[in-house]
Amino acid sequence: MLTDMPQLSTTSARLWQRIKPWLLPPHCYFCHSPLTVQGACLACLQQIHIYPKHCCQQCGRIMPRDLAPGPCGACLKKAPMAQSMHSLFIYDGMVRQALLHWKLQRQEAEVAWLLQSATTTLQAIISAHDLLIPVPMPLSRMRERGQHHTANLCKIIAQQSGAAWDWRILRRIQDTPRQSTLSGQARKTNLKHAFGIDHAHAESLASFQRVWIIDDICTTGSTLNYATRALKPHHNNIHTFAMARGLRK
Ligand SMILES: [Zn+2]
Ligand SMILES: [Zn+2]
Repeated sequence: MLTDMPQLSTTSARLWQRIKPWLLPPHCYFCHSPLTVQGACLACLQQIHIYPKHCCQQCGRIMPRDLAPGPCGACLKKAPMAQSMHSLFIYDGMVRQALLHWKLQRQEAEVAWLLQSATTTLQAIISAHDLLIPVPMPLSRMRERGQHHTANLCKIIAQQSGAAWDWRILRRIQDTPRQSTLSGQARKTNLKHAFGIDHAHAESLASFQRVWIIDDICTTGSTLNYATRALKPHHNNIHTFAMARGLRK
């Protein structure tokens, strides 16, 4: 199929992603069916689920509407490290497909379109005076994938919100098994000592009233919680954000 060109080298694939909109007629970013305007078809739109607004402001868990914005029972028992947690989409359907295409095949179009469609929400959450910090990846995984995708996510969100971003402050100081390979309980402790601060760059934190730690997917919340714990001694107003969040069963 013309829209899928896995045989291309990384550079050629990037170039193809850029010139594709000008060469191909308008189509759905997700299933490639023809459209009158470039975007998402109705069938794919129905598989994109916005993260509900009725959730606990502190941890982001979905709550009954009359109890939101919480705090929820879990936060009353033990408050998370960050002041708040926000997500744009539920991690399923076309959002899951978009993130997998982006992370594993370096196809950015679907994720870029999803973020573009959420610009108003993003601008309501993140201000132009904030600092965005990506959850760092182990060096081995960056080499393997050829990109730091949470840093790329920060870059796009920074363009939309006007916020600053810096990938150098929060560092991965321990390589650990992939979260996706672990069960729920093991995920909760896997990253306990994985993050550290690069003191040479941490001084700039003082220039910002509010700092966001940015991840692509949130499952148990433990990655963002441990990343916040590493940053907490250096800033007292830390918030967390994941583009998509899985629903707990
Ligand atoms: Zn479609
Ligand atoms: Zn909560």
